[in-house]
Amino acid sequence: MSDRVLIAGNWKMNLDPDEGARFMEQFVLDAAGRAEVLLFPPALTLDSVRRALLEDPPARRVSLGVQNIHPEAAGAFTGEISAEMASAAGAEFVLVGHSERRALFGETLGDTRAKVSAVQRARLVPLLCVGETLEERKRGELERVLVGQLDAVIGTESIRDGVIAGGAFVLAYEPVWAIGTGETATPGDAAEAHALLRSLLSERLSPAVSDRVPILYGGSVKPDNAAELLNAPEVSGVLVGGASLDPESFAAIVRAAG
Ligand code: PEP
Repeated sequence: MSDRVLIAGNWKMNLDPDEGARFMEQFVLDAAGRAEVLLFPPALTLDSVRRALLEDPPARRVSLGVQNIHPEAAGAFTGEISAEMASAAGAEFVLVGHSERRALFGETLGDTRAKVSAVQRARLVPLLCVGETLEERKRGELERVLVGQLDAVIGTESIRDGVIAGGAFVLAYEPVWAIGTGETATPGDAAEAHALLRSLLSERLSPAVSDRVPILYGGSVKPDNAAELLNAPEVSGVLVGGASLDPESFAAIVRAAG
């Protein structure tokens, strides 16, 4: 499995440019820590966070991403941004398939496929979120849902070939029932789903290529449960929503990674 430890913060529609700059003043990172930090501010806040990073030496460990893109590179798509624009603005990562995009904005499996392909076209790294709802889990459909969401993307020849050729790819297991609810999957639940994803990646790509793909856990990660989740088998990091909005909580989660 990948040796990288990634701690990602998804700010969702929170923190405007001034608030993002204030967050960065208060977000103190231990320069010796081993985790790589990814921040996903709102697109309009990205530049103020990027400027703050230029002034701060531990910034070397922080990369930026956007929360969504449109699959086309440019054109008449009012309100949208492209992967190429995100790249020009300083983003290196793009979230794709977050459960809020799927549930609230009708993002389909076909959309996630097109977006991952666009992210690869712009030479950015897709961070694909997958996960089951509570009803699906109760019906015993964990495997069916994860296979469907992963295969929509990695089953595509061009995407699979891109990843095999060395294009980076990051996966996040985010059980929908644990997002923003305070319900956390147990380390055992996370380990089970991550092992399943690892074996699917290994079959679809190859064991060696699969080993380079970090699999993050997301869903109500807080400073007091981060260490046990990070220690679960096959967990290469965490994707944090609510607790990433507070610079101290988020720094505590980064410290939990060592
Ligand atoms: C998320 O939105 O990706 C997430 C994990 O949110 P929270 O940490 O608030 O559950």
